[in-house]
Amino acid sequence: MYVAEITTENISELQSFLLDWYRKFGRKFPWRMSKLNNYQIIIAETLLQRTKAETVSRFFNSFIKDFPDWKSLMTTDIESLEKYLKPIGLYKQRAKRLQSLANEMVKRKGRLPKERDELESIPFLGQYISNAVELIILKRPSPLLDVNMARLLERYFGARTKADIRYDPYLQRLSLMIVNHPKSKEINWAILDYAGLVCKAHKPLCTECTLSARCKFFSN
Ligand code: SF4
Repeated sequence: MYVAEITTENISELQSFLLDWYRKFGRKFPWRMSKLNNYQIIIAETLLQRTKAETVSRFFNSFIKDFPDWKSLMTTDIESLEKYLKPIGLYKQRAKRLQSLANEMVKRKGRLPKERDELESIPFLGQYISNAVELIILKRPSPLLDVNMARLLERYFGARTKADIRYDPYLQRLSLMIVNHPKSKEINWAILDYAGLVCKAHKPLCTECTLSARCKFFSN
């Protein structure tokens, strides 16, 4: 069996497959459908961390309605914010992070730096949200590399060496190569959706998966 190696040809084939699959089966979420402002984009991506997109989808519009900007988020008391976030879990940690980020963004008058180093130096933003800002706001190819994207890439191409995704040079490089495309946003969303619907954490649907012919995990 021929398994996928990291070559330009294989990456380009995978990109085409993902874009085609996304056009047919991609999920529709409020943060993908409408034109959001920078605040709304960062909130969506922050809520999506370690939480299912379907859960955030049910919650996102009311959150934006009740906290329409950084200032409203900054001035609410932390206990009320925790209570508000309770239905989607991790509420204490999330309330603290969102409010600290709101403080920082109010200080910066909502302005985001354009340079990657400066972006990542904003307290409470972190690597994942910085990637999302680059991809969605600054419109530069950047990977939304989370556990779901990592799972699909590792199963298909082979495992990482470092425990923490953020510091694994192989996954960082590989994910960037795959999303380095004029339709970077759609490729990112396709990977996340494919990982959520087909290459699932438990019981992946390998026998129905078009990628199985070259997938390392499946070949083993
Ligand atoms: S064959 Fe299985 S493990 Fe490989 S990409 Fe498809 S669903 Fe994932």
